[in-house]
Amino acid sequence: MKRQIFKKRPDDFDYHQLRSCKNCLNSFTGRYCNACGEKVIELEDRSFKRLAESVLNAFTFLDGKFLKSFKLIILSPGKLSANVREGIQVPYMKLVGLFFVANFFYFLFPVFDTFNSKLYTQFYQQGYSDIVQSVVRDYIKANNIDFEKFTTEYNAQSGNLAKLLIIILVGIYTIPLSIINFSRKNLFFDHLQLSFEFHAFLLLINSVILPHILLFIIRLVSMWFGVDWSSLLSDEVYSKLSLVLFFYFFVRAQRTYYKQNWLLAGVKGAILTYLVVISLMVYRFILFFITFWTM
Ligand SMILES: [Zn+2]
Repeated sequence: MKRQIFKKRPDDFDYHQLRSCKNCLNSFTGRYCNACGEKVIELEDRSFKRLAESVLNAFTFLDGKFLKSFKLIILSPGKLSANVREGIQVPYMKLVGLFFVANFFYFLFPVFDTFNSKLYTQFYQQGYSDIVQSVVRDYIKANNIDFEKFTTEYNAQSGNLAKLLIIILVGIYTIPLSIINFSRKNLFFDHLQLSFEFHAFLLLINSVILPHILLFIIRLVSMWFGVDWSSLLSDEVYSKLSLVLFFYFFVRAQRTYYKQNWLLAGVKGAILTYLVVISLMVYRFILFFITFWTM
């Protein structure tokens, strides 16, 4: 006999009884009001056990829905957004929720400075670094501030703001998506959904999970052979690898979500990949000025 650890309670709810909704007074049968969605409250819903369960549920986003959505984002980019459009949402996590989980993990385990650009990155490594340098130098000179002190304060402020401002990226990137895939059939909402899906992919898979797996493997191999290969995963190498991943995401999404043939999906995928780089640059530029003005 199979032993069960978790056993579902038998459902003795009366699904045929006609009820009146406590919230909107609509008449309905079943557990939920079909007009406003309010749930029928039973005595056991008010038990301590149920309260503990819902507290636990609120904290365990690593439940079935999260893992299912996560798997779909990797194996079939564009499918989660397509499901939203077709009305299949219950088995998966909402894309906005997924994005915020990804956002949370990125700041918990950052490997690269992509979204929270420190002053050094802004000062030397951007296309607009000239502007940053002159703005900062003027400010320091005018107020007679020490550069080191300014850097420390800037980095702290930028780190705090980036946690809130990453969402700007989702908005920025909706613009190229709506232009490249312009069609009367696609609403702004549809492009926004895909932008959320892509940024969940970008933050969680490309910026947290994959780099940590690669770093782990490199350390393991380095230990095994007694060499130090930890510098192998440089910003430059990983940036190139990221472009390949973005291209994969967009070609698949063009196929699945925008229903395009392989040739068109390939061309648009390449353009969209390039535009991620531009969108990240615009985001960093905005992040610099907001950080600077709010210091
Ligand atoms: Zn109701």
